[in-house]
Amino acid sequence: MVHFVGAGPGAPDLLTLRGAALLEQAGCVIYAGSLVNPALLGRVRADCALYNSARMTLEEVLAAIQKAEAAGLDTVRLHTGDPCVYGAVREQMDALDALGIPWDDTPGVSSFCGAAAALGAEYTLPGVSQSVIITRLAGRTPVPERERLAALAAHRASMAVFLSAGMLGAVQAELLAGGYPPETPAALVYKATWPEEKIVRCTVASLAECGAAAGIDKTALVLVGDFLGRGGYERSKLYDPAFTTGWREGGA
Ligand code: SAH
Repeated sequence: MVHFVGAGPGAPDLLTLRGAALLEQAGCVIYAGSLVNPALLGRVRADCALYNSARMTLEEVLAAIQKAEAAGLDTVRLHTGDPCVYGAVREQMDALDALGIPWDDTPGVSSFCGAAAALGAEYTLPGVSQSVIITRLAGRTPVPERERLAALAAHRASMAVFLSAGMLGAVQAELLAGGYPPETPAALVYKATWPEEKIVRCTVASLAECGAAAGIDKTALVLVGDFLGRGGYERSKLYDPAFTTGWREGGA
């Protein structure tokens, strides 16, 4: 059986308890070596077969899984953050289905959550934005035209831009073209939750310049939106004394 496991954003103690238990029993672990913290591999059995998928094709990953299956071993397929965000897991799940190999999926803390924690930020501030757009800039991997960064920017919602730290000039241009005012707060979070984490707060207009000054061009998220501002939000209804919820009677 194959267990897809979210490794979390970097800090080794941000792995789930379920993920840790699965790692500890696996006979084969295939990890996304470009971003998974190697400290997590300290949990695996001494006799565990280890593969770094950064150097492998999908076909090679499937071959390693089939080899483990033939030997009666469980495989953990360890993906950075949560597997459901830019994890290329669906193609593996479908291939495993075709091969008749059972699998399950254990979520992890995505880096956009790790980055918000690093910043002490809430994406969904009442009166500011109630939506988070998870997206990326088109690069060597295309993005559907209707999801161009500029088109999404028109919503001026909270945004987490993945896989685009090497193209900050283009990110900035698209965000501005789409309609974020230049003074909209933005942040770059490099290696959120790792010891070498770096936070750069800026505006949409200064994003590329600040990123270059900090030397950030990979393993970073670009966060954009007024949720990063100093205030301007409304307090929640949920905790408002006058508001009645299913759990609490509101009073004057
Ligand atoms: N599944 C992962 C995303 C994989 S795509 C997740 O849920 O987080 C790889 C991209 O994720 C990187 O280019 C970067 O934009 C982002 N990323 C991954 N880990 C990160 C971290 N610790 N800090 C900041 N960005 C990170």
